[in-house]
Amino acid sequence: MAKAISPCIFCQIARSSNSTPLLHSDDKVVAFKDINPSAFRHYLIIPVEHIPTVNDLQRRNEDYTLVSHMINVGETLLRRDAPQSNQYRFGFHQPPFNSVDHLHLHCFALPFIPRWKQLKYMSLGPLGGFIEAEKLLEKIKPLSPIPP
Ligand SMILES: [Zn+2]
Ligand SMILES: [Zn+2]
Repeated sequence: MAKAISPCIFCQIARSSNSTPLLHSDDKVVAFKDINPSAFRHYLIIPVEHIPTVNDLQRRNEDYTLVSHMINVGETLLRRDAPQSNQYRFGFHQPPFNSVDHLHLHCFALPFIPRWKQLKYMSLGPLGGFIEAEKLLEKIKPLSPIPP
């Protein structure tokens, strides 16, 4: 955590100090298009706060609520922009397979284009790779019930 502050491209996007157009923004998250899309629609949802990777998330309400919110925003955007797609996928790269060290949820409206790109978003079991958002949620679900 006590790393020297380096310019993080996603922090710049979250603070809008970058020309990337945002699809959504609120006080917790922002959404934008992946610059190198792998599917019919391919969006990224990132927390405004700089959280490096999924390994920095813990079993606590704060993190669970944040990830749930990221998924909700992604779902809403895909429903709006790709209602005809019959399959959506949501997930995260786990280190060392992540490209940018700022947590980001990949949101896809399938099909993958071109098809081989799906290889970038496959779970590698115990080796890590890509983790489905629902699986991550299970891992960080607080043990005590979330207050209403
Ligand atoms: Zn950042
Ligand atoms: Zn990624």
